[in-house]
Amino acid sequence: MFLVVLEALLCVLAFMFGACIFSFLNVIVYRLPRKLSFVKGFSMCPSCGQRLKAPDLVPVFSYLFLRGKCRYCKAAIGVRDTLVEILGGVLALLSAWKYIYKEENIAAFVVVFLFFCILTVVAFIDKDTMEIPDGCSIAIVLLAIAAALLPMVMPEVSLLSRVIGLVCVSLPMLLVTLAIPGAFGGGDIKLMAAAGLFLGWKLTVVSAAIAVLTGGIYGCWLLAAHKAGRKDQFAFGPFLCAGLGIGVLVGTYVIDWYMGFLVY
Ligand SMILES: [Zn+2]
Repeated sequence: MFLVVLEALLCVLAFMFGACIFSFLNVIVYRLPRKLSFVKGFSMCPSCGQRLKAPDLVPVFSYLFLRGKCRYCKAAIGVRDTLVEILGGVLALLSAWKYIYKEENIAAFVVVFLFFCILTVVAFIDKDTMEIPDGCSIAIVLLAIAAALLPMVMPEVSLLSRVIGLVCVSLPMLLVTLAIPGAFGGGDIKLMAAAGLFLGWKLTVVSAAIAVLTGGIYGCWLLAAHKAGRKDQFAFGPFLCAGLGIGVLVGTYVIDWYMGFLVY
């Protein structure tokens, strides 16, 4: 009984840890493209400009408690920030379960959770502005260097696999873009080069396949629903980030499942 309570408590702690970090990522997603400082300035209501106090800023719970309305002017608060916080909580729980509970590898937990943080910032900034900041791809390169220098983080990914990962998706994307200008953005290509260096070639290929599949379905839906024409473009970064996130968590299972088909 005691253990069950303890485990439940740890789950709540892991969820709130992720929600708090992703709450701060919301600030980065808003301020980075606008070249505002992350640490200076206060959070305020976008409608009435009222400076928000601590009880208004508790991830997820403030939104539920205030029923999605500003405490001061009652204007509706966007639900996206809260969904991002929930995503952070879920990702912290999943990575804590996979890396700390199952593999007892805290270094891997830290590195992978940082990777999720960067992917989230990239996905939402790309969705908002159609651009991926170079700083985010550089941050992934730094994670890749950390993972290469600390063999306990990803013991299954060799240096050769990282070098192949650097080019195995980014180079074809670059070639396609040279043939069909505007096929992929430069930011998308740099993101996949950096992520390939971090994940190694196998997970990078799986991630790219997931991104092309989900992005393709989304594109077809846009066309079918007449929300976009053939010439319109949509941000592909969010699909790449979703593919990379899923690739890290379950990519090895996807590979095993797919290889199962090839054997028979
Ligand atoms: Zn307000």
